[in-house]
Amino acid sequence: MQLPDYHTHTARCGHASGHPGEYVEAARAKGLIGIGIADHLPLLPERDPELSMSACELGDYVTEVQALRARFPDYVLLGVEADYRPHTVLEVRSLLDSHPFDYVIGSVHHLGGWGFDDPRQMDEYADREIDNVWVEYFEVVGDAAESGLFTILGHLDLVKKFGYRPTRTLGTELDRLVERVAKAGVLVEINTAGLHRPVGEAYPSLDILRRLCDAGVAVTFGSDAHEPQEVGRDFDHAVALAQAAGYAAFASLVGQPNGRRAQVCSNPFGAPAAFADRRPPTPLDKRRS
Ligand SMILES: [Zn+2]
Ligand SMILES: [Zn+2]
Repeated sequence: MQLPDYHTHTARCGHASGHPGEYVEAARAKGLIGIGIADHLPLLPERDPELSMSACELGDYVTEVQALRARFPDYVLLGVEADYRPHTVLEVRSLLDSHPFDYVIGSVHHLGGWGFDDPRQMDEYADREIDNVWVEYFEVVGDAAESGLFTILGHLDLVKKFGYRPTRTLGTELDRLVERVAKAGVLVEINTAGLHRPVGEAYPSLDILRRLCDAGVAVTFGSDAHEPQEVGRDFDHAVALAQAAGYAAFASLVGQPNGRRAQVCSNPFGAPAAFADRRPPTPLDKRRS
């Protein structure tokens, strides 16, 4: 598969399995053109051992992925998935600046203190007005895009994970978010993990992808693999989705020396693929996104 996978986790985050080397082997076996390891940056202000590695594990993580990067030059990249939370921006920035990450996936998993994609905190949906949840989420994602911290925005409409849909279109709010993302110049990933969550569709939706494409936002790919065998999962579907949204090309990342962030390259898709909406069985599990 002539695609990269930039969103993969490892056992260090406490809710995935496998070592970075096993993810790299899986990517090579599947014929991907590159892989980025992007485990969860230690969650701030307090670590949750089921959600991220601890601060003292970060150095080992970087060293281990850098060794793979040296062994497979131009193939393996050192990434990380960092939570965007307004009150921790300074600490996250300093943590990111202290390590030579090739790229950073920026994700919103919390609205205030509520981990809205955490199955342990699902009950809170019953106490919330769902349209307000979506509007607030879009605002925070827009802030994340503008923070300058991130290369790629992760699972852009993660708030749909458990199938709680807004009761109205939210077109105005969505247009505003897309405009902010386009202006910020960040990439958006097509994240196939959503196909295996209750919502049963990739992040973001076809509707959002069409708007992003119209606004000139480049897309790339992430499986959000939490096991090595999930690397590159459903990427045929992701390509068809991108093409159905109007994309003729996708973005890939090229690592730079001396700890500088990766350069973004554009790659044309081959022949158009047929797109079909699908809803596979989606057992609820404890994994994020
Ligand atoms: Zn992830
Ligand atoms: Zn995530």
